[in-house]
Amino acid sequence: MADPRAFLTTPRRARTRRPPQERVQDWAEVDGGRPPLPLVREQASRCMDCGLPFCHNACPLGNLVPDWNALAAGDDWRAAATHLLATDNFPEFTGRLCPAPCESACVLAIDSEAVTIRNIELALADHAWEIGVDRPRPPERQTGRRVAVVGSGPAGLAAAQQLTRAGHTTTVYERADRLGGLLRYGIPPFRLEKHRLDRRLDQLRAEGTRFRTGVDVGRDLPADRLRSDHDAVLLAVGATAPRELPSPGHDLPGVRHAMDYLTQANRADQGDFPRPPLTAEGRHVVIVGGGDTAADCLGTALRQHATSVTQLDINPRPPDHRAAEQPWPVHPKVYRRTASHEEAGEEPRVFAATTVGFDPGPDGRLASVRFAHATPGDRRPEAGTERTLPAQLALLALGFTGPEPDSPLAGQLGLAFGPHGTLARDAHFATATAGVFVAGDAGRGQSLIVWAIAEGRAAAAAVDHYLRGTTDLPTPITPADHPLIP
Ligand SMILES: Cc1cc2nc3c(=O)[nH]c(=O)nc-3n(C[C@H](O)[C@H](O)[C@H](O)COP(=O)(O)OP(=O)(O)OC[C@H]3O[C@@H](n4cnc5c(N)ncnc54)[C@H](O)[C@@H]3O)c2cc1C
Ligand code: SF4
Repeated sequence: MADPRAFLTTPRRARTRRPPQERVQDWAEVDGGRPPLPLVREQASRCMDCGLPFCHNACPLGNLVPDWNALAAGDDWRAAATHLLATDNFPEFTGRLCPAPCESACVLAIDSEAVTIRNIELALADHAWEIGVDRPRPPERQTGRRVAVVGSGPAGLAAAQQLTRAGHTTTVYERADRLGGLLRYGIPPFRLEKHRLDRRLDQLRAEGTRFRTGVDVGRDLPADRLRSDHDAVLLAVGATAPRELPSPGHDLPGVRHAMDYLTQANRADQGDFPRPPLTAEGRHVVIVGGGDTAADCLGTALRQHATSVTQLDINPRPPDHRAAEQPWPVHPKVYRRTASHEEAGEEPRVFAATTVGFDPGPDGRLASVRFAHATPGDRRPEAGTERTLPAQLALLALGFTGPEPDSPLAGQLGLAFGPHGTLARDAHFATATAGVFVAGDAGRGQSLIVWAIAEGRAAAAAVDHYLRGTTDLPTPITPADHPLIP
């Protein structure tokens, strides 16, 4: 029996990353493998099983955290992994990439250090594959209904898996040459090795999900035809329209969107070319933006041996600890150093920095970036604070505004955009066009993998209900659900 007082006697021990000097020389994941089971058992025993599990509520998937903690603390790995897989289709992704709002909401975190929930999840996820708990689960019978899922990011894949397992004949259409959405071409291999995605896709295939890559629905295949060929269509096309920076010189050669850069680096890793055409090698690089995408550009540029990398973040440096207006259990904005920031050594970020312009050299290409201190409140450049950085490459990582507005898909299906630029849908993920549903970033706006999986699961339940008049599939969230403080 696990020690019920372990939260009083056992300190938090997170798994360690490989040394920054070592990992920056390769593209393998920064964490060398899953945490060892004895460490996981010890850390799971710190869970207080506190009765009102805020961790469970903070997780968009409703992961059964106290349950799998108790099972892991008692060495029942098979049952723990089964409990995890009951609510999370892809825990190997969330265990590596989720920002873990559950840990911010852990009751132990009120006056101590949270349980290492994400590490435990990752260990259970990887162990589930090793012991054969995470295996293909094809449906026992087919319904004869045909569903098309458009987009193969985490939302589309989660929905497809749920619908296939429910017995519907499900085909995923993806315009890219490979499957996975931002898991494939956005997030770099040093945060998610792609064999993990391939293994999951093999599982989906073994269950019966069909895939068609290289099909841009709306252009290569009219969306209304797709609708008439299927009993339902679920759009999980992401929010891939980049936010632009209208500063002077933003269209100079050498100023690029982050996703162009990250896609090429991911393609190089997957063998499409020995060296990406767009590389940071031997260049001064300036990254404009402060989120995950900017950090991924940083880690990629360091591995490509950039001469220097500076990140301009328009936000002021966050506080080291929770601010009073972000009390427990919200996931607070605090100062964090990602693995990429660790690798940079000295702090590569300039906080409260607003980009003033991009300047060309004699060859007409980008030569420098001008920035200034951003005035608190309106973020305008503060007079007299302008500075210049040399730059042959500037990467715009300013986030995404929503699904691509110029895609013919929406027009062909008669869909409307909502006030935030996302595809409009009702409380059941349904659009105004009968049998057409929307899930993931396309409906929610730029978000997180855990929300995308939750959206996929919930939208699958809505599609199942539309097709059969009833459903046994879970609905972890509604489109109206959001984090306590976004
Ligand atoms: C660089 C980067 C790093 C990130 N890091 C993290 C992280 O660490 N943790 C985290 O939780 N989240 C992270 N995110 C966010 C996360 O990746 C997204 O929220 C998530 O992938 C959204 O899933 P989705 O399925 O809705 O869309 P996407 O993953 O964007 O997938 C949409 C898919 O639809 C396809 N598609 C679009 N239009 C069509 C069409 N007409 N026909 C056919 N296919 C089409 C696209 O090609 C794409 O494959 C990151 C995002 C980026 C860009
Ligand atoms: S998916 Fe994210 S929020 Fe949910 S339990 Fe795992 S780490 Fe926590």
